[in-house]
Formats: sequence, C-alpha cells, structure tokens
Amino acid sequence: MHDKLAIDPSWTLFLDRDGTINRRLIDDYVKNIEEFDFLPNALEGIFELSPLFDTVVIVTNQQCIGREIITHEELAVVHNHMMDGIKAAHGRIDQIYYCPELAVFDPICRKPNPGMGIQAKEEFPNIDFEKSIMVGDTLSDMQFGQRLGMTTVLVLDGTNANIEADIKVSDLKNLASYLI
Ligand SMILES: [Mg+2]
Repeated sequence: MHDKLAIDPSWTLFLDRDGTINRRLIDDYVKNIEEFDFLPNALEGIFELSPLFDTVVIVTNQQCIGREIITHEELAVVHNHMMDGIKAAHGRIDQIYYCPELAVFDPICRKPNPGMGIQAKEEFPNIDFEKSIMVGDTLSDMQFGQRLGMTTVLVLDGTNANIEADIKVSDLKNLASYLI
C-alpha cells in the first residue's frame, strides 16, 4: 500500500460487479435476482463512496450472454434489482457497462481489455483515467485499471491476496474509510 491516496470530487470510481458488489458464484453466473446477493458492507460502502466521486460506473464481464446462458433482458432484470437495492441504500451508480462477448474471442470490451473504460469516457467526457480508481477482485480488473493508468484497488476474498494492486481492502466500506 502506498501513501494515502488524495482524491477530490473530480475523480471517477470504476467498480467491478461480481465479487466486489455482490457475491461471486464459483464456476457459475448470476442468472436471476435470487442468485444476486450483496456482499457484506457493499451497500453501505457504495453509499459512502458515491458522494466522493463525480462519476461512478460499473464495468462487468458477462460472457454468460455470449454463452447463451442468459439474455440481455435477463441481465437487465438483475441490474434493475441491483440498482433498486443501491438506491434504497442512498447510493449512486451513474452507469453500468457490461461485456457480453465470449472470452475466447478476446473482445476489446472484456476486461482486462480497456473497451468499457473507453466507452465510459465517451459517455462521460470528464473522466480522467489518471484520476480514476478501479475496484475489483481479480487480476483482470487490476490489469484493466493499470492499462488505463488508474489507481487499482483489490477487494480481498481470502484467496486473491497475491494479486498486485495499489491498495487492498476487505470490502467497499473499508475502501470508503480509507479514502475519507
Ligand atoms: Mg469480479
């Protein structure tokens, strides 16, 4: 961990979804709202983090669509459910980007490739990647952030502590405490 990160309200927060906001299913996908469980401290963390940032977006790989396990519409149902929970907890997410493509094709939108970051900057031109934080639980999240010049934050899950990141936290509330 380097010196405490000094952010200001012009910064952008990029959040991974599975394993960062909600419980990641091992060798499976969140296919419906019954399988979507917020991680402990995630909602409180988003509530505390969102006012600190100009823009807060989610970037999530969802090749379950490319694999025809769920449809875009079924993913939208899961995301509406997630957003309802976040709004009820007075948190704010400005946009959700997802990559439906199969990993085997190494699509530009799939983390660690930078496509969803570029997409976000097209929609929110104020985004400055040097003044952005990428939070996730996997190597591909950290590589995505590093490639775009972001500060990287790893959410520890008991198995991933060996992954390199600028900051390591136990959950999103822990990150908020670190930044405030
Ligand atoms: Mg994840």
